[in-house]
Amino acid sequence: MFGVQCLCGNTGDGLLCGQCEKELLRPISIYLGGYESVRATGSYENRLKELVLELKSGNRSIIPAISALMFRSLHERYPRFDAVTWIPPSKRGHRQRGFDQSQLLAQQIANLLDVQCFRTVRRTDKASQHSRSRVNRNLGPTFRKLREVKGSLLVVDDVITTGVTLRRYQQLFKGQADLKLTALCMASAN
Ligand SMILES: [Zn+2]
Repeated sequence: MFGVQCLCGNTGDGLLCGQCEKELLRPISIYLGGYESVRATGSYENRLKELVLELKSGNRSIIPAISALMFRSLHERYPRFDAVTWIPPSKRGHRQRGFDQSQLLAQQIANLLDVQCFRTVRRTDKASQHSRSRVNRNLGPTFRKLREVKGSLLVVDDVITTGVTLRRYQQLFKGQADLKLTALCMASAN
């Protein structure tokens, strides 16, 4: 059997070599109302930023390694999750890449956690982020709920900046005592 190639090109028996894990894994916890916890793999800078941009430019070959990294950034004290979901990208982002990176990451993370993964919302933004006014953009994206959920849900997102996207997502399930949300992001640009 050949080993699996890491992000750096080194061959090892895991998706990430020890050196890359040491360099990239700098987990950050962010406080956001409505969430049990929000976790990011590291700061949006240096090599992690390069990897995020590489993924956004369409290189999906790094998805398994990034998923492994995100999975590793979840602390042992995290609860058992019942399911994994993701924040869908804007139509424009999806069209540019040809795939939904957060969906692919969520599916891999669900496999690692051995739980199911499903879509919970649809984006309903009227216009692209680009053409919207600054005021509208600050309000964040808009979503439509596709199904009811309960239990402990892990929400995968790409880069957290102001937290407005996760906040908008959470508002759809507001007041639901039987639902516990935890977010897991690739990086934090906070
Ligand atoms: Zn490596």
